[in-house]
Amino acid sequence: MSRYAEDEDDRPRRRRSAGGVPCPECGWRSQRPGPWPWYLGTVGAVMCKAVVCNDCDHDFDAKKPHANLATRKRNLAIGINGCGFLGIVLVIGLLALWIAFTMRR
Ligand SMILES: [Zn+2]
Repeated sequence: MSRYAEDEDDRPRRRRSAGGVPCPECGWRSQRPGPWPWYLGTVGAVMCKAVVCNDCDHDFDAKKPHANLATRKRNLAIGINGCGFLGIVLVIGLLALWIAFTMRR
């Protein structure tokens, strides 16, 4: 009468050979690319690979699965944007120095 037990067999077969790193939450090795941290740019893409677990939807960094992804993204954002910000400050500072130098004459 009841055929519920057989429904289990119809579930898509879980692929263990996806080659990814195991999910820190459930150990699942199948992930899809996570939301792109665009503000990290190409440097961020090299240092951090955001993925989302196909099984439990946990998002994490494939390069450091046990690190907190939100913290990691924030630290990278501060580091990368901090460098860019310093560069801009340096250029503006040099420009201001140059203007001050030329105005003196
Ligand atoms: Zn998972």
